[in-house]
Amino acid sequence: MTRFSPLTERVAGTGAGAWAIHQSAARLRDAGEDVIFLTVGDPDQAPPAPVIEATVAALRAHRTGYSPTIGYPALRQAVAARCARRSGRACTAENVAIVPGAQGGLFVALHCLAGPGDEVIVPEPTYATYEAVVGASGARMVTVPLRPEANFHPDLDAIAAAITPRTRAIWINSPHNPTGAVFTADEIGGIAALCRAHDLWLLSDEVYEDLAFARPHVGAWSLPGMADRTVVVSSLSKSHAIPAFRLGWVIGPPALTAHLFNLLLCLTYGSPAFIQLGALAAFAAELPEVAALGADYRRRAGLMCRLLAGAANCRVVPPEGGMFVLLDIRGTGLGTGEFAARLLDRERVAVLPCDGFGPSAAGHVRIALSAPDARLEEAARRIVRFAGQLAAP
Ligand code: PMP
Repeated sequence: MTRFSPLTERVAGTGAGAWAIHQSAARLRDAGEDVIFLTVGDPDQAPPAPVIEATVAALRAHRTGYSPTIGYPALRQAVAARCARRSGRACTAENVAIVPGAQGGLFVALHCLAGPGDEVIVPEPTYATYEAVVGASGARMVTVPLRPEANFHPDLDAIAAAITPRTRAIWINSPHNPTGAVFTADEIGGIAALCRAHDLWLLSDEVYEDLAFARPHVGAWSLPGMADRTVVVSSLSKSHAIPAFRLGWVIGPPALTAHLFNLLLCLTYGSPAFIQLGALAAFAAELPEVAALGADYRRRAGLMCRLLAGAANCRVVPPEGGMFVLLDIRGTGLGTGEFAARLLDRERVAVLPCDGFGPSAAGHVRIALSAPDARLEEAARRIVRFAGQLAAP
């Protein structure tokens, strides 16, 4: 066969190992088994009704044509107004581009910030797609550990030590997937200071911004003296339980918005019109449904942590935010792949081995809180029973 481009190799293979469990679980489910899926962070709750109604109304009104490449001005303005309200700093439609989910936003933003020969510093463990995003751009991902002993919070000295003349950006994610860490104001401020001192971009993935429990979320846009080097990426996927909308945004300097326009013109040619009009309803007000979803995840996290406290030789890591609970299974003597495979085999519970997210998460499995209470309780019972059997002589 005629050969493919080098890009195909740079985006291949990441996280494939971890997702093998998900695929095995799907096969069991398709064969009629009662499998509890706690692998993917796919919200199970109903989305806010006003968003659905506005989307349906837009479809019925035949809003099915092309839309402006980086989003309707009204939606860009609404995203900017919310950002300004939350951050206390100026933000206008000129700062905002509408993109296909935070994932699409991270991809196009990173491509505008770094390229071949550049380095991008990312705290590790990283969300599963980051390595391929950096790889696709041609830049090199340089990881700095978030250590379990530090509750997966960043070590500023280690980040500073990773900076070289080739570094172009520091890419953070708080609330953090998979560890659940919510970085403190000092930590994020410290990282921002490094960006200023070394003339770097701060790329901030804030997709879980509405799911911070332990302390308030510090949005990167709120930092002083950073507006010309901060890029915030977020979406409605988690906060509004609508990942299928693929409705996200990038907030950055207007010059970045102009580059994103060029890139999106040759990539998406605009986000679906009816989706954007539905999303407008999400910004009309701070919807009570969003606060309720946040409260739901916080409660579920507490429930899961309480129930898993009884799992022999395991240690539950209470999340400070997000929609996952980590379980440290190093005490069981099993590797995470084997733990997850046996748990699925014996108890029909699917969880994600974290090793693929980076070495600092080795020995942990990630449990998504994406099921109703009764299913989470049943899953926890099965995990505790499984851990008990492992511990039995
Ligand atoms: N970043 C992180 C940390 C995530 O966990 C996810 C989704 N799981 C994304 C980005 C992508 O989200 P979206 O659905 O908005 O593309």
